[in-house]
Amino acid sequence: MKYSVDTPVQYLKGVGPRMAILFKKLGIEKTEDLLTLIPRGYVRKSFIKDLRLGEDACVLGRIIETGNRITSKGKIFIVRVSDGTGVLSCCFFNYSPKATSKFKWNELIKVEGQVSLFGQGLQFVNPRVSFSTTDESKFLPIYPLTQGMTHTYIRKIVKEALINNVYIPETLPSYILEQHNFLSRESTIRNLHFPAELGLAKSAHERLKFEELFWLQILLALRKKRLQTNGIKFKKGSVLARKFFDLLTTENPNFKLTNAQRRVCWEILSDDMESSYRMNRLLQGDVGSGKTIIAILAMLKAVESGYQAVLMAPTEILAEQHYFCLKEYLPKIGVNIRLLIGSQSQIDKRKLQEELKNGEAQVIVGTHALIEEPIKFKKLGFVVIDEQHKFGVMQRTKLIKKGKSPDVLVMTATPIPRSLSLTIYGDLDISVIDELPPGRKPIITRWVTDDKIDEVWSFIKQELNKGRQCYIVYPIIDESEKLDLKAAQECYEKLKVSVFKHYEIGLLHGRLKSEEKERVMSDFRAGKLSVLVATPVIEVGIDIPNATCMVIEHAERFGIAQLHQLRGRIGRGAEQSYCIIVSPRGISDTAKERLKTIEFENDGFKLAEKDLELRGPGEFLGIQQHGLPEIRFANSIYNTQLLLQTRELAFKIIKEDPELQSPENRVLAETIRRSYQDKLKFLEAG
Ligand code: ADP
Ligand code: MG
Repeated sequence: MKYSVDTPVQYLKGVGPRMAILFKKLGIEKTEDLLTLIPRGYVRKSFIKDLRLGEDACVLGRIIETGNRITSKGKIFIVRVSDGTGVLSCCFFNYSPKATSKFKWNELIKVEGQVSLFGQGLQFVNPRVSFSTTDESKFLPIYPLTQGMTHTYIRKIVKEALINNVYIPETLPSYILEQHNFLSRESTIRNLHFPAELGLAKSAHERLKFEELFWLQILLALRKKRLQTNGIKFKKGSVLARKFFDLLTTENPNFKLTNAQRRVCWEILSDDMESSYRMNRLLQGDVGSGKTIIAILAMLKAVESGYQAVLMAPTEILAEQHYFCLKEYLPKIGVNIRLLIGSQSQIDKRKLQEELKNGEAQVIVGTHALIEEPIKFKKLGFVVIDEQHKFGVMQRTKLIKKGKSPDVLVMTATPIPRSLSLTIYGDLDISVIDELPPGRKPIITRWVTDDKIDEVWSFIKQELNKGRQCYIVYPIIDESEKLDLKAAQECYEKLKVSVFKHYEIGLLHGRLKSEEKERVMSDFRAGKLSVLVATPVIEVGIDIPNATCMVIEHAERFGIAQLHQLRGRIGRGAEQSYCIIVSPRGISDTAKERLKTIEFENDGFKLAEKDLELRGPGEFLGIQQHGLPEIRFANSIYNTQLLLQTRELAFKIIKEDPELQSPENRVLAETIRRSYQDKLKFLEAG
């Protein structure tokens, strides 16, 4: 045995360092990667008499004639091939004389292409040609290629691996193989590349699809199992949460939790927190659905049992907003709340570190400054991650590791289809707030081109005159881009002395000093500013109900999810809100599609589906970013049935045999050790 599945492709005969670089472009490093390279399709080897118009086929025959012809489309070189059952013309456009000289009379060649009509006969236009004709298989794979690679070449290398009998270990237990009638893995791989009939190729694809989703779910099930053990069992009852709520309702007599909030509250405070399982819950709810209050009630319950609770938000502005809101209430019920953000002074930070360590700080709100090394807690028991899609797995893990198996609540407003949530959040329990607080009017959204901007401004002024406030958003994708920032600044300067010269107008971006940001935000919150020109730092979480208008400039630069999040800053009070998205004329078709979608759809869930459709699942949420294995064969969106089936099976296996020790499952344990070593980090994360 010369090779194993772990042999780098570079060492396969015929590859070498130069071709290895090209393989790497295709994502192939090890022999295993090569063997699971998915053919885009197959061409059938065929007799000429059996060719069907339009099909991709491959023909083996002898050259009976060559010649040049001038046509309206230019010069073509024609090679006529016979295999004894018929004659096929191969037409090559723009062929160099040197290349044509290779075609010699009576030479045996193999040509591959799509069958089309040529006068009375059949032809291939610019077919693939090979002069070595030892290939015996009936179907030939067509691969995704990269510059400098040919199908013939990849086939040759795949054959090299297969003919040398690379040992291809089985990865599934025999009871699964039997139940699903799967081919062995070895046979699957052979049929993936060189199937004796197309049905076998199909079976190979089925098994590989199944396997991929199955392994994903096994990893999720293992992780879930691991997370669930030895959690904190918080005390029954919620006196502090009740006190907080009473305080809230004395100030806002009409405030009532929505049914959805009440249900979710029950799930979290009672089912999860009072059980000895460690909570790992995702709270999903559209922007403005009222997730924050749930997090606060849960944190207070943790404090009541003598633990510290922490809430991490992705921006300083959002962290400060949560902090200022909580500072209104918590001290009144005897709970100490603290803020921790990167831009605080060293003196403040040191004092805070002390208070975290001695337990004086009970509820802590902050940004990723919380995960820095010197930050230590006395007794961290509850972790909330707000807008979790803005954080990576490792950031989350670092914070969670600062406690001793704390309960974890992650919140997101990016609603995703169920099948996808079972993929990337498959290790979490999921609660959904599927209802907005009462009295909200749907936001009216209009898309206009920038030549109409004057009309937009006069509309905004009308609203300002009614006492409303307005955000004007500038598309700075990266806050470190000075040029972008300058554009926002210039817009602000210009509006300040022209359109809005009779109004108070402020500027907010991520690079302002912390005190400056705080001042601008609190002025806007207090209504001292009517207009806030802002970068997308305001994208998440900001909650100012009197701000009912938003103008988004260069909206074509944003994605659907981000536009929806931005728009979620308005429509938070009882007044009618308006969002005006502005773009230049002549933007791309996909950008138009996005803007049209956002103009006519308010429902975050439907928008997410559309987004998914436009962008595809990979880009939509970045599966890899979550530390999960890549999905290549299956499509987690369209293979929902299979996903649910594999999930059920995987979770059952892990439930019955958590350590995978039984003889029939040993193959699973071995596969994990061999192929998923790098994913074990993910298993331990969190
Ligand atoms: P998100 O889910 O986007 O984080 P928030 O928690 O910021 O939403 O809540 C949005 C707004 O709705 C806040 O002003 C909040 O006070 C208000 N809110 C939350 N729950 C209710 C409710 N049950 N009734 C009325 N207003 C509510
Ligand atoms: Mg929020």
